[in-house]
Amino acid sequence: MLKMTGDKLSIGEVNHPTNERHIGFSPDTPLRKDAFDLTDEQKINTISRYMKEIMKTLGLDVEDDSLKGTPARVARMFVKEIFSGLNPKNKPVITLFDNKYKYNQMLVEKNISLYSNCEHHLVPIIGKVHIAYISSGKVIGLSKINRLVQYYARRPQVQERMTIQIANELKSVLQTRNVAVVIDASHLCVSSRGIRDTSSSTITSEYSGVFLESGRRNEFLKYVYS
Ligand SMILES: [Zn+2]
Repeated sequence: MLKMTGDKLSIGEVNHPTNERHIGFSPDTPLRKDAFDLTDEQKINTISRYMKEIMKTLGLDVEDDSLKGTPARVARMFVKEIFSGLNPKNKPVITLFDNKYKYNQMLVEKNISLYSNCEHHLVPIIGKVHIAYISSGKVIGLSKINRLVQYYARRPQVQERMTIQIANELKSVLQTRNVAVVIDASHLCVSSRGIRDTSSSTITSEYSGVFLESGRRNEFLKYVYS
């Protein structure tokens, strides 16, 4: 039996009408204190065992040729791929370069592919991330922006929190408040189950520094959406 113990909730927790709990004020992913006491291999073994129980409980014959490898495969995928961004050791190392050309306008990287999973149902969130920043004297390797997005996407997520986490990380790495992040994503928990709405998408944004001014913000949005 999987038991959630010690899941820490910060002050400001609100009870959503659907009874899904949303974190009020902390942008941090709620983690247990002992989150990384086990090695990846130990986690894979434990999850694999529970996954087998879940499949058996559903009535599946886990000795069937096609299903035999599934528990271990899912466990490995959780730890090494889709939830690997829970572990700070997997955070990408960011190298910055001097802004030699003195380029001082905004840099926009749009349509960054997003694959995450909603933390309420553990089903995919698929979408695009658009990012802009204005250099404070340092520039970031472009692919590092994609890697940072991937890192925060690879954990059970809430789209609002992921938006803030990505923006905060960019502000800290780039040492500037002039950062904008927009996420436009479809949630499979909305399209493939429950209300089964296949056409809606969810847009979240986080603007700071000069992007709080409507002129800069509109310039960014024009690059992204036209
Ligand atoms: Zn969900």
